[in-house]
Amino acid sequence: MSKSLLIMDLSCPQCAERLTDGCKVRLDAYIKESGQHGVMALSAAFGDYTVVTDMDVPEGTVVEFRCPKCEAGLAIPLECKLCKAPMVSLNLAQGGYVEFCSRRGCKGHALGGIGDIDQMMNLMNRMFETPYD
Ligand SMILES: [Zn+2]
Ligand SMILES: [Zn+2]
Repeated sequence: MSKSLLIMDLSCPQCAERLTDGCKVRLDAYIKESGQHGVMALSAAFGDYTVVTDMDVPEGTVVEFRCPKCEAGLAIPLECKLCKAPMVSLNLAQGGYVEFCSRRGCKGHALGGIGDIDQMMNLMNRMFETPYD
């Protein structure tokens, strides 16, 4: 196999349902501006802001993410440091959580966000020290 990506095992903070599916995280999405509902699959790789969706999501659009299992809103009362859109939070199986920006095209949109270096190192440490095989 080629390069191994750091795939995060994420779950809903409300219902604890696992949301990582392979190397994607599938979330329900709603775009207020256009009234569209759909599904967005975010890359579960740390720092990768690739998004796969059938929805028409222009760069700069803020997306409301919901858990596909319990429909809880995933936004938290915190603004993106870069663009001031609401941040979204998911729990990490290894402990803790990751946050990302809800605005398409923002650098903070990657899971793991814009990474504050300290935060990122913490996260990496937690992930690599996990005693799983
Ligand atoms: Zn849920
Ligand atoms: Zn942002």
